[in-house]
Amino acid sequence: MTGSRTLLATAFAVILAFAAAPSAQSACSNTGSFEAWLAGFKREAAASGISGATIERVLSGITLDESVIRRDRAQGVFAQDFLTFSKRMVDSYRVPSGLAKMREHAATFQRVEQRFGVPAAVITAFWGLETDFGKNSGETPIIRALATLAYDCRRSQMFRTELLAALRIIDSGKLRLDELVGAWAGEIGQMQFLPSHYLNYGVDFDGDGKVDLRRSVPDVLASTAKLLKGHGWRSGQPWLQEVRVPERMPWEQADLAIKHPRAQWAKWGVQLANGGALPQDELPASLLLPMGRNGPAFLAYPNFDIYLEWNQSLVYATTAAYYATRLAGAPQVSPGRAQVSHLSLQQGKELQRLLMARGYDVGKLDGVIGQKTRAAVKDVQKKLGLPADSYPTLDLLQRLQ
Ligand code: CA
Repeated sequence: MTGSRTLLATAFAVILAFAAAPSAQSACSNTGSFEAWLAGFKREAAASGISGATIERVLSGITLDESVIRRDRAQGVFAQDFLTFSKRMVDSYRVPSGLAKMREHAATFQRVEQRFGVPAAVITAFWGLETDFGKNSGETPIIRALATLAYDCRRSQMFRTELLAALRIIDSGKLRLDELVGAWAGEIGQMQFLPSHYLNYGVDFDGDGKVDLRRSVPDVLASTAKLLKGHGWRSGQPWLQEVRVPERMPWEQADLAIKHPRAQWAKWGVQLANGGALPQDELPASLLLPMGRNGPAFLAYPNFDIYLEWNQSLVYATTAAYYATRLAGAPQVSPGRAQVSHLSLQQGKELQRLLMARGYDVGKLDGVIGQKTRAAVKDVQKKLGLPADSYPTLDLLQRLQ
């Protein structure tokens, strides 16, 4: 996987508002004209069974949209830590507005949960973060954007698939061409579904004979639940739970790649956020410390994996899952036991450079502390005899310098 997302094409509009550094993947370059590419794509579409009439009607005269490529190349990265980001995205106003949406559509949510096993709070959190409950779905015609991104070298395979899916939506009469509008990178409707998700997970839940992800809230909520279920959502299980960690424990166990029964975490001194005892059971969970051992702490359950599929950014995934816990009744997260220093993008790059010089694979030198960088940090912490919580601090950066 080359992009930072699997289920969605872009970081969400709300996140892009403060996005900063361009991606290192902007290094690829396009060869050959768009027109020649389009001619080849039309042949591919015909070979895959799309009617000639649809292909001509939808794709004839389409031109490259340079502004889409510029936006895609400039797609930013997370420069904010979990507490800053979640405060801005969740604690500021989206909890009351999400609760109001859950009340307004309570009967639909109940039917959706009965059918797909996904609770209202989980769906509502994505709905709020994606488009502010449908307020920012986008009105851009998506065919030209999809064709541009399919031609562009950065993620051409992914967007060829999406452009084909969009043609299939029109060819089968599910939507009209003028209804294929959405965000600049081709996502449709209130939950920002890519065309392939529309085809694979779209549900006509209001029974009007059409999957309408722009205007029908029942269709939006049911389709989202079907997508989450399709990616493995386990009905009746939690996704994220705030906990309190002791001052000392085997920190190297705090790793999303490591799962232990809750009883084991309890044995190591992990408690409920309110200081109560964790259930002593076998439910597997990872200890998630998004800002290291002195910051907020969560148990991440198997359902949390689906958040990381929705968006690989740990800060986004943790925020979306935390938002859902707030809507399900959890109090505001504790900042932890100490002020945690957060590396700037520049400091993150410097850290990655120093780790690379020591022989570690840190992925792209982009300052984003992703899984590879965290794994390298953990190893270096162990070698230096530091608590190995995988979180890079200024102190660690200075030691490496
Ligand atoms: Ca419908």
